[in-house]
Amino acid sequence: MIYQRVALIGLGLIASSMFWAMKRRGVAGHVTGYARSAETRETARRIGLCDTVCDRLADAVRDADLVVLAVPVGAMEVVAREIAPHLKPGATLTDVGSVKQSVIDAVGPHVPEGVHFVPAHPMAGTEHSGPESGFATLFDNRWTLIVPEGADEDAVARLEAYWQALGANTERMDVAHHDLVCAVVSHIPHLIAYTMVGVADDLGRVSDQEVVKFSAAGFRDFTRIAASDPTMWRDVFLTNKEATIEILGRFTEELFALQRAIRQGDGDHLFDYFTRTRAIRRGIIEAGQDTDEPNFGRGKAAG
Ligand code: NAP
Repeated sequence: MIYQRVALIGLGLIASSMFWAMKRRGVAGHVTGYARSAETRETARRIGLCDTVCDRLADAVRDADLVVLAVPVGAMEVVAREIAPHLKPGATLTDVGSVKQSVIDAVGPHVPEGVHFVPAHPMAGTEHSGPESGFATLFDNRWTLIVPEGADEDAVARLEAYWQALGANTERMDVAHHDLVCAVVSHIPHLIAYTMVGVADDLGRVSDQEVVKFSAAGFRDFTRIAASDPTMWRDVFLTNKEATIEILGRFTEELFALQRAIRQGDGDHLFDYFTRTRAIRRGIIEAGQDTDEPNFGRGKAAG
């Protein structure tokens, strides 16, 4: 057991997956949970998510050795302010937000003396959200980035051990680098997927029916990402402005270069570019971060 009492604040995809992963390996003695709406708390009770579901935030965090903020990035401050007076001295406060600088700015000022604030970010997810979307293996062999920012070493090491017990690998990262890396590997890919699906929807000359019917040609993979939670992703772009704008600038430059190559019939440029990107895909498979099966392992029947 790594922590005696853990409190999960927000009971969506990430928190519910953490709960099932904790139960799988006996990582915590007792887990309390809190979500904003009575409906989510009711669902959590019905499916046995958390040992105790609390109707008040203060009750959920009282006596907890680890408090996990698993709410959208834009809601971190209001939650941190409300729980601050009820945190146990010596407890660790962490979060799972997809952006780190803005969470540190929002939560940091509310952390009481004697409480260790150690921001973290599991690099795992699906397009589903809510209390029923979680599963115990979500973090297996994925990476959780820990952003210690001068926090107490024992508290950081314990949080690392906790994430490893949930199945994840851990790596420490500086806050600015975290936000840039996530813009590259997660935030901009989501924006591109949202855009491509929006373009297909707006086009007019290709009917919606055709888009759906022939989607297995590539479009379908964009739609999975573009189905991700709108609140969460709105908050990500509002709070990771600098890094996403920087990477988006690079992306549009590359896109224009490819557009020019297509217009000029520059096949060598296209071929070299696609050869380079194919090697990145191989690297991801070799690192065990995806399957080598054709069609992303969907099987022949799925087409
Ligand atoms: P989710 O499934 O949409 O769940 C969000 C939870 O937060 C819900 O239980 C919601 O309660 C609660 N909540 C929302 N606003 C709140 C508020 N003002 N006060 C209290 N509770 C509030 O979200 P998620 O996907 O688990 O994401 C949670 C965090 O993890 C986000 O910060 C996100 O950036 C980060 N993250 C997500 C992923 C991913 O792929 N999904 C991956 C890594 C990190 P109600 O149901 O009652 O509204």
